[in-house]
Order: sequence, then structure tokens, then C-alpha cells
Amino acid sequence: MTQTEEKLLRRAIELAAEARTGGNPPFGSLLAAPDGTILAEERNSSLTDRDITAHPELKLARWAARELEPEVAATTTMYTSCQPCGMCAGAIARSGLGRVVYALSGDQLNGLKPPGTGFTDAPSEGPALYDEARVPVEGYYT
Ligand SMILES: [Zn+2]
Repeated sequence: MTQTEEKLLRRAIELAAEARTGGNPPFGSLLAAPDGTILAEERNSSLTDRDITAHPELKLARWAARELEPEVAATTTMYTSCQPCGMCAGAIARSGLGRVVYALSGDQLNGLKPPGTGFTDAPSEGPALYDEARVPVEGYYT
């Protein structure tokens, strides 16, 4: 990792501390151009916004998909204080960002939490009703 990348990652950690100071979970992220210019910064605001999706990585992915041309988004790097969760990883993939650099891994984060504080997946069932469900989808992805 270059000194510029370390500086950007340290800024993401600062944003995480700012999120905590502001009454939110301690996570922060930024999006940088290839030369290290910061394009956008975000902090977790899930508690103050009462929005379970207000993770900084998701906010930046949405911003990039809305504000950047796909070829520009593909050149950017997200620096984030913690490895993106499954929700954010999906949004990052859909936004076409070029790369993610994180500080804490998801496993390291879980090691810092008390036992039993994680999320559990809701039970799900399926597939079902294939012949009906495929009708609105067929021909869409051509
Ligand atoms: Zn997330």
C-alpha cells in the first residue's frame, strides 16, 4: 500500500470516529480518483437517520452510480474503515466501482463485538411459481 493509500485509509478511519462522535455506528468511507483526489466522503448515519441502509459504503455506491459515468466509476477506489457488509458489497458491485481498500476485516470487526451481536438471516423459501414468475423477466435482459 502506498503512502497516499494509507493517508486515504486513515481519513476513512477518521470518518468512522466522526460517525461515532455523531451518535452513529463507527464506520466511514470515501471514494478517491486514481490520483488520490477525494471525490466524496460519507459516515454511517443509520441511527440518526433511523435508516438501516445508511452505511457509508452504500451511500457512496449510490452517489457514484448517480453522479459518475460508468467508465469514471470504474477508475475509482473506495477506502473504508471496515470491510463492506453484504448489503454494501452488492451495491458496490452494481455501482461499478473499480476497487475497495478496507482497514478492519469483517472477522476483525466481529472480534471487537460482544458475542451474539451479529445479524441472522431471515428464513427464506423458494424457488416457486417459475412459470408465472419468469413472465415479467423474459426478454428484459437482451
Ligand atoms: Zn454495509
